[in-house]
Amino acid sequence: MKPLGPIPDGFAAIEGELAIGGRKCSALVEAAGGTPLFVYSADRIRQRMAELRAAMPQQLRIHYAMKANAYASLLELMGTLVDGFDIASQGELAMALAAGLPADRVSFAGPGKRDSELTAAIVAGVTLNLESENEARRALEIGERHGVTPRLAIRVNPDFELRGSGMKMGGGAKPFGLDAERVAPLAREIIAARAEWRGFHIFTGSQALDSGAIAETQANVLNLAAELAEATDHPLPRLNMGGGFGIPYFNGDQPLDVTAVGAALSERFAALPDALASTEFAIELGRYLVGEAGVYLTRIVDRKESHGATFLITDGGLHHQLAASGNFGTVVRRNYPAAIASKFAEPPSEEASVVGCLCTPLDRLADQALLPRADVGDLVAIFCAGAYGASASPSAFLGQGPAREMLV
Ligand SMILES: *Cc1c(COP(=O)(O)O)cnc(C)c1O
Repeated sequence: MKPLGPIPDGFAAIEGELAIGGRKCSALVEAAGGTPLFVYSADRIRQRMAELRAAMPQQLRIHYAMKANAYASLLELMGTLVDGFDIASQGELAMALAAGLPADRVSFAGPGKRDSELTAAIVAGVTLNLESENEARRALEIGERHGVTPRLAIRVNPDFELRGSGMKMGGGAKPFGLDAERVAPLAREIIAARAEWRGFHIFTGSQALDSGAIAETQANVLNLAAELAEATDHPLPRLNMGGGFGIPYFNGDQPLDVTAVGAALSERFAALPDALASTEFAIELGRYLVGEAGVYLTRIVDRKESHGATFLITDGGLHHQLAASGNFGTVVRRNYPAAIASKFAEPPSEEASVVGCLCTPLDRLADQALLPRADVGDLVAIFCAGAYGASASPSAFLGQGPAREMLV
C-alpha cells in the first residue's frame, strides 16, 4: 500500500458522489459530453485569491503565470481577479489578449523569443522580460523599425535560489536571465536608448511549501534589486519578485503558510531602501492560484487482476496528467491525491492501482492505493489537477487527443 496525497479542502459528497461547485461529478461529465474531463472550480479560485490578498501587503500586485492553465474560460476569470498575466510565447500572448487583458498588464519572459514574437509583443505594448543582451538589442531595433517604444525589463539570474524549490530556476549557470553583474550596464543601455524602462524580473524557483524559505528568498530578491537599481543610477519602476508558492501534492506535505509570508514581506516593505522607494512590486504565481481548484475525472473501462494485484484501467492517463504519473520533474514517483469519485463517501476497502489507457508502464495515476471497491463505469478523480495538467501533458501521445475542460 502506498499513501495518497491529501485531498484539498472544500470537496464534499452529494448523494455519495464527489461534488464540484455544488454539482455531482456524474452530472458534470454528462454536461461536458464525457470523460476524460478537467473540472475547474471558479469558487475555489476566487476564495484562494481572496485569502492571498488578505495575507499579502496591499500594494503587492499578484500576477498569474498562464502556463499553469490557459483554458479560455479560466483565463477570463483570472483576468477579473489578478493584476497582470505572465506569458511565455506568442501563443500565450494571443490567449492573454483574447481573455480581455490590457497589454499593459502583460509581461513576457522566456529564453528563446523569436523576432516575430518580439515584434508582436512590442507592437501590442507588452513588457518584455529580457533574457540576454542579444534579445535586448533585437527588441530595441524592432521597436525602432516599427516606430514603437518598447517596454523593457531585465530578467536577472540571481546567485541564490529558493530553498526547497521543486524546480530550480536561479543560482549558477542558467539559460534564464542575465547574470547579476551584467544587469546594470544593459539597464543603462536600455534607458539611454529611450525604451520605456520597466525594471527587473527575478524568479528563483517553484513549488516551495516552507514560508521561511520563501520569506528568505524575497528578502534576498529585494536586496539584489536595490543593489542593481543603485548601480543603474535610476529609480526602479517595477520589480517582479518571482513566486514559488507551492501546494501540497503528496502525503505529508503541509500547506504553505501565506500569512507568515505576507507578514514578513510587509515588514520588508515598511523599511525599503531609497532605491526601491517608488517601485511597484509584483509576484507571479501559477499552481498556487489554480492547482487545487482542478479535478481530473476519468472513467474505469476495465478491472483486472494480475499476480494478485488489482488494476483499475481508465480512459485517461499521463497524456493529460503527466505530473500525476510522476513524469514532470520528480525523481521518486509518489501518489497525487485521488479518489473513486462515484463512491466518494464510501470507506476504502481494497488496494488497487489506477492506470491509464496508454501502453506504457509509466501511465499510472495512483499506485497501490487504498480505495473503495470500484468497477467498470465508476469515475476516478485525480485532485490538484488545475495546474500543469492539460497545459503540460503530451495529449497527442498515442493519438489520444486532449481532455474536455470545464469551469464551474
Ligand atoms: C513557471 C513559472 C511561474 C509559475 O510557477 P508556479 O510554480 O506555477 O507558480 C512563474 N514565473 C516564471 C518565470 C515561471 O517560469
